[in-house]
Amino acid sequence: MKNISIIGSTGSIGTQTLEIVRANDDLNVVALAAGSNVSLLEKQAREFKPDIIAIWDEDKAKELKTALSEFNIRIVSGMDGLIEVATYISADILVTAIVGMIGLRPTIEAIKAGKDIALANKETLVTAGHLIMPLASEKNVRILPVDSEHSAIFQCLHGEENNKISRLLITASGGPFRGKTREELESVTLEDALKHPNWSMGKKITVDSATMVNKGLEVIEARWLFDVQPADIEVVVQPQSIIHSMVEFADGGIKAQLGTPDMKLPIQYALYYPERRNLAGDRLDFATLNGIIIDKPDKNVFKGLDFAYNALECGGSMPTVFNAANERAVALFIAGRIRFLEIYDVIEMCMKKHRIIDNPSLEDIIETEKNTYELINSRYN
Ligand code: NAD
Ligand code: MG
Repeated sequence: MKNISIIGSTGSIGTQTLEIVRANDDLNVVALAAGSNVSLLEKQAREFKPDIIAIWDEDKAKELKTALSEFNIRIVSGMDGLIEVATYISADILVTAIVGMIGLRPTIEAIKAGKDIALANKETLVTAGHLIMPLASEKNVRILPVDSEHSAIFQCLHGEENNKISRLLITASGGPFRGKTREELESVTLEDALKHPNWSMGKKITVDSATMVNKGLEVIEARWLFDVQPADIEVVVQPQSIIHSMVEFADGGIKAQLGTPDMKLPIQYALYYPERRNLAGDRLDFATLNGIIIDKPDKNVFKGLDFAYNALECGGSMPTVFNAANERAVALFIAGRIRFLEIYDVIEMCMKKHRIIDNPSLEDIIETEKNTYELINSRYN
């Protein structure tokens, strides 16, 4: 039996993780956390019977307590509650399916408590890779990637522990605007940006795919996860999302991981690593596949990639600024306050104005996020 805790259980990754638990008798949920969705948390509690649940808001915690009064489930709230779930004593592994930098502290505490981490939360390595990776190795904790590209690389590296990576080839779908010119992007709407060709995901990450900021964030994550220099990480556009990423070794041999686009595979791989279990779902059918398309990213139009490489080159607190500025810019775009291409302008403005803090502490990172938000608020209010 493997005991699992999940922070962010009501979101896209969280609910898919629970689907995997539902399909496997030897997985057991012991702790759940989410932001505010009381009714879904209640349903999840009734089905999976965890020992403890954290909900961010204190009032919502009262509501949830009443709803679950017939069960002996501990209900907690706030950051202390989130940390209690993340470090819950009987959990073997923590799934970080929470969105935003709010996931940083609970993840750090879970590593300190010796929990393996199935890492979906992007902000963790983007902003604090320099803190997380050494801590995980000190505590002998595994960081098991859930993002499909990193999982693909992780799968390719299995059995290659003694071989040096010469290049990582991270695939990108190119999003809904692949092939478009800057002029054509002047007038695109939120609705256009949300039409992702292959993956069904939350709004924010779907917009990030359209700007290619998502791929930029993934390049930064890969740099930390696999200890590879930015110059050795390349982005390849693969519009069908069939090749999930690739690794090139010293002899020029390239390994790739392929499959249909389904986040349940990387989630399940992280939960059972290194074992592979049956997973229901569509299989890739080469008979009906009309070739595999490969393209180059158009970096002049989709500036998300260059920003990420630039943030990595600057180092220190700059990736935090890139991430935080993008988060706010996307929220402004979703709210109809700025146009699509202005997302890039907001990021660029924040990165230009930032004075880099080298080797930032957790507090520095959180402060940097706050300052970036304030800078944007002062201009877009
Ligand atoms: P989502 O918005 O669907 O879900 C986010 C979850 O976080 C929800 O359960 C929400 O309640 C919870 N949450 C938010 N604020 C909280 C708080 N203060 N306290 C407790 N819980 C809180 O997001 P998602 O698409 O599932 O993505 C989660 C993370 O995984 C993100 O960092 C994302 O970049 C990454 N990711 C997602 C996908 C995907 O396919 N959706 C793929 C790769 C990586
Ligand atoms: Mg991805």
